[in-house]
Amino acid sequence: MSEVEAEVEQSHLVLSPHPLQRVGAFALVALAAREDFSQFRPQDLPKAMDQVLADSVRASVRESKAADGFWQKVSLSFFPNAPMNHPGRRKGKGPSGEPKTDKDVQDAVRSWLRIPDSGSWPNAGCALCGRAAVGFYGKRDMALAESEAYRNTTPRGHDGTALCWPCLCSFYALPYGCQLTGGSSIALHSWDDGFLASSVRRRVNRNLQFSLAGTAPKPGGRVKEVVALRALRSYGERLTDGVELLVFNNNNRGQLLEKHRLDQPLAEWLRKTCRFGDLRVAFTALVRAHASSSTQGVVSLARNAFRNPERIVGQGVGFMAGSLLGPEPDHAELVDVAKLICSFADEVLLMNEKDRSEIQATAKKLAAVLYPETSRGRLREFRAQLRNSRQLRSWLLSRDVVFLGREDAPFEGPLVSEHVMVLLFDPSQDNPSWFHRDLLLAGVVEELARLGWTAKDESEKPDDEVEKLREDDRKWINSDDDDEENER
Ligand SMILES: [Zn+2]
Repeated sequence: MSEVEAEVEQSHLVLSPHPLQRVGAFALVALAAREDFSQFRPQDLPKAMDQVLADSVRASVRESKAADGFWQKVSLSFFPNAPMNHPGRRKGKGPSGEPKTDKDVQDAVRSWLRIPDSGSWPNAGCALCGRAAVGFYGKRDMALAESEAYRNTTPRGHDGTALCWPCLCSFYALPYGCQLTGGSSIALHSWDDGFLASSVRRRVNRNLQFSLAGTAPKPGGRVKEVVALRALRSYGERLTDGVELLVFNNNNRGQLLEKHRLDQPLAEWLRKTCRFGDLRVAFTALVRAHASSSTQGVVSLARNAFRNPERIVGQGVGFMAGSLLGPEPDHAELVDVAKLICSFADEVLLMNEKDRSEIQATAKKLAAVLYPETSRGRLREFRAQLRNSRQLRSWLLSRDVVFLGREDAPFEGPLVSEHVMVLLFDPSQDNPSWFHRDLLLAGVVEELARLGWTAKDESEKPDDEVEKLREDDRKWINSDDDDEENER
């Protein structure tokens, strides 16, 4: 390859298999004001880097604790040993032999963020994309590479990671693509390039405001799981891959890398659900179901999605039962929530359709049994049995016996088929019996709601009343996509 060809190659941005490089590469695309990665031209790389350089030069002479020092503080979690951040950057003497001036500090930043002279390039391939590297890099220039166990310091006798200029620039642009807190940073990554491009562009636009003024975003918006939920809500296309949250800090005082993942079916289900449309009522109810006096519903819902997705259904079903047993159940809302729970079964758990419809048929029969009851007692009793499979099994069998062969039976055939018995009670690993029992309760409540059932025992205290929607959840649900100050 000729020298000219080699230099041309150093202006072509590529996407490597490294998630943080990919986030940084899309940040460069947004900084160059390109809509799409495919539109990024070689001349865009210096244009994007001019922005990085201008912000770094400005931040390098500010103090991280000052009111305008946010970008300086942010750089601490990315490049703590670089000339823009190192605590010793203003100590010692400048080239003239005099004590360092602001200009000396800023010149050092300029030479840090410049492509090395081609004469100094090593004869090595970039560790991320395989093209010619322009040098070896370690902690000063790259955020944590693989895991916290990898300390990201270059061992003695080792030159560091070989990187080409565009891959290196991606790391320099990484802060713009992250949710910045001043401490650990949060990068949202996906192998779905369309989603990644869109979520990074939104972050870049927001972070440019903070880099210019140097002021910090208002507190709030720091719940990492909600960062993902908000990005999903803002994306109008179908997701083709899962979503990863990378929480990291390159700070010398405590390096960190945590990874959290949403698989594609769940990420796509959440995206559709929280984008409202027909699901607005059900999503709002689901948020209410997750709220407590100490925790916002949106926060709890997002945490469940990452840590324990099945609990989303449990919370939703609990809400449904509580609402129906309350003084003024909203029947239409209950039907909507039931639909949402069914969509979770179909789309996230990929439940067999025949199994689901058999459970729903059983739920309808049970609802027909419970409908004539005017008090809350029977439904409460049924709900309580769900937690104890032995009791529930004998309760169901006893209902079957009551109506067996009776002409006035409110349903035909047996109440619970043998197959549904297996679905509800088989403890084997591949049968989520707890979930099937939740579905059964959801189906019973849905059917009673369709029939317009309301408890008549007004003298009895309806202790099942569900909480109203929290004000901060209402704001989150109604806010603009970029509003992230309503999360705590
Ligand atoms: Zn490379």
